[in-house]
Amino acid sequence: MTKKYIDILDEESMDPLDRKAYEIILKSSSNGGIIQSMLWKMLGVDSREGSKIVLRLIKRGLITRKKISYEGKQTYMLNAVTNNNQKINIYVSLDNMWSIPCFTCDLLFTCGKSSTVTPLNCSKLSEFLLTYSADIIKSYNILRKP
Ligand code: SF4
Repeated sequence: MTKKYIDILDEESMDPLDRKAYEIILKSSSNGGIIQSMLWKMLGVDSREGSKIVLRLIKRGLITRKKISYEGKQTYMLNAVTNNNQKINIYVSLDNMWSIPCFTCDLLFTCGKSSTVTPLNCSKLSEFLLTYSADIIKSYNILRKP
């Protein structure tokens, strides 16, 4: 078990039943997870309380819930979020893309190694990169201020 998960389990703020549920889900995850009704049985809780526990763990980003069909019934398979299956949302803004001079440059298709104009000696591109990098550094410094 990695330090991250030990820290989570040691967290004082975590409800003891949530912690127990998380431990069970974490252990079962190496074998494909656990069906939520089985988890409820192991915890000794009813479906109402069990659902609340599962939702709290999902909200904390500790587990995932996948709809499955089991013995002819729709249910959920629960798995712990680990580094291997953790979903990370990365938001990339393309707003600045159109300010890159090459996209609107008449020389785009002739620019290059065999041309007299190359990205290495292009003043438009150099100016853009200097401005852009200055903006990034400025934003970074603003973000770092306490
Ligand atoms: S590097 Fe300069 S010349 Fe080449 S395509 Fe970009 S803006 Fe145009």
